[in-house]
Amino acid sequence: MEINVKHIEAKAILDEYIEGQGKRKTAERYTVMDIVLDTEGHHSADEIYAMMPEKFPVSRATVYSTLSLLDEVGLVFSHQVQGKTLYERAFGVEPHHHYICKGCGRIWNFSNKSVEEAAATCRTPRFKKMRCSVYIYGICDVCYARIYRLNKKLEKQRQQNMTREEKRFARIDKELAESALWIKKTKK
Ligand SMILES: [Zn+2]
Ligand SMILES: [Zn+2]
Repeated sequence: MEINVKHIEAKAILDEYIEGQGKRKTAERYTVMDIVLDTEGHHSADEIYAMMPEKFPVSRATVYSTLSLLDEVGLVFSHQVQGKTLYERAFGVEPHHHYICKGCGRIWNFSNKSVEEAAATCRTPRFKKMRCSVYIYGICDVCYARIYRLNKKLEKQRQQNMTREEKRFARIDKELAESALWIKKTKK
């Protein structure tokens, strides 16, 4: 692992917070922090736990508690996706937003200046804005293909034979139809 300015600055932020809270500065916490800062993308606590070095074991509980600590101090962002919390480094990355597939739960980054501009110009009385985060929910091409196949299957099969997952995808299909109407209306 390469320790650079990003790590030193992040450590200073975490140090100050831990001291202020009267918590213990354990080496394990900094191991978790360093790994998160070096990792791109969006990962669950268990995925991050799996990234811990074998030589320097960190308990699952420490990984979980450190991630919420990093979230509190703003060194990571947390995203709620299908009932799971995904973490992403917030330090030394360009501001971005996300789009999430409702079928498979995959999450992608996107950047669009007009989103920030809209957030900056919208009125928020008696409220100081800090940052804005936008999530666009939809369906990816892979899941869309599944819905297409499912619809074909449905033509032949009765609804009560559907599995729970198929029912979920049928619901998403319905939502897609509704959102198409919504987009059409918005464009007018
Ligand atoms: Zn998908
Ligand atoms: Zn992201």
